[in-house]
Amino acid sequence: MSTGSPVGSHRVVSPAGALPQAAVRLDPDPEIRDDEVRVSVERLNLDAASFRQLRTKHGGDGRAVRAEVLAIIAARGKMQNPVTGSGGMLIGTVDAVGPRSPLGLKLGQKIATLVSLTLTPLLITDGLERWDGESEQVPVAGTAILFGRSIAAPIPDDMPEALALAVFDVCGAPALVRRVVSRRYHSAPTVAVIGAAGKSGSLSLAAAKDAHAAKVVAVVRDQVEAAQMRRLGLADKVAVADATDPLALSHAVTEALRGRGADVTVVCVDVPGCEHGAVLATATGGTVVFFSMATSFPQAALGAEGLAADVEMLIGNGYVPGHADYALHLMNAHPRLKELFNTRIGAHA
Ligand code: NAP
Repeated sequence: MSTGSPVGSHRVVSPAGALPQAAVRLDPDPEIRDDEVRVSVERLNLDAASFRQLRTKHGGDGRAVRAEVLAIIAARGKMQNPVTGSGGMLIGTVDAVGPRSPLGLKLGQKIATLVSLTLTPLLITDGLERWDGESEQVPVAGTAILFGRSIAAPIPDDMPEALALAVFDVCGAPALVRRVVSRRYHSAPTVAVIGAAGKSGSLSLAAAKDAHAAKVVAVVRDQVEAAQMRRLGLADKVAVADATDPLALSHAVTEALRGRGADVTVVCVDVPGCEHGAVLATATGGTVVFFSMATSFPQAALGAEGLAADVEMLIGNGYVPGHADYALHLMNAHPRLKELFNTRIGAHA
């Protein structure tokens, strides 16, 4: 057995020299190097932007969605939607640990990977036969490979697996929101969360409150989600707006904040076209956190320039130290947040 690269470059089939995330194709061979871990995969959580893109493309035809996901994984050796570029993550059981693996995982341990499916070698062995193509969560049999530098978290004993998977998928968002809201120590900032009724959005609301934001605005798509937000009780104001309509979005936020933009705007929608509204909704000198994978860098950068908007823009890196534990802490601290997640998982299952 030989040692691989801790960042997994030995698994890249093409193009030569790329790291696994940027690779077109990975080698998903279940045989491990001596610093790798093999996981027997039980469930995938497809990234929300990816799943929505596939569902829209196929007009809601689950069989066609399933066929395309299978084809992507077979062609690429990983699950990376070629349109959105995003993946998701997985849960499974550790079934082989190389003698030099630094991850500290044990055989038989149930884990969730905290690195994206876009860089995780993945081999499907059941043809996704138990999945109807209608939910983000995909029951599956197969194997995945973790490298020396991958990260994974044990599934908590007191949380259903489907819920843990959904929480871990977006756990970078609340940790980043806490960091950004906390650092503005001269005065507590106002925060607007766009797409607040979703998974990353609702966790971001909880994080903004936890970090003592001065005021938290939840922006949602419709009155059904607005009612969910009032029940959740984590926002000081709830506003309804289409996040892809820049003027409507900025109007909704500034109206909720008595004529000012938000100091921190967090974009948690799963559709493209929200960059300009988010920039317009943000106060001068404020920060926009683009957690959404449907964000376009040119739209954000050129849009802000064109609006002469002096705002800082952050890409929502899915990794922040301690992110998984913090998300679990928020879930346990807010039973209604757990309820909202369960409703979403149920609705999409
Ligand atoms: P989610 O649970 O599906 O939430 C998305 C929310 O946005 C939903 O409430 C949705 O409403 C709402 N929405 C959609 N279109 C809207 C519109 N035009 N106006 C207002 N609201 C709208 O998604 P999620 O799992 O939280 O993921 C959110 C985003 O984060 C996705 O783009 C995903 O790819 C990204 N993500 C990023 C990372 C990272 O590392 N940066 C990691 C995971 C996920 P409906 O439900 O009514 O459609």
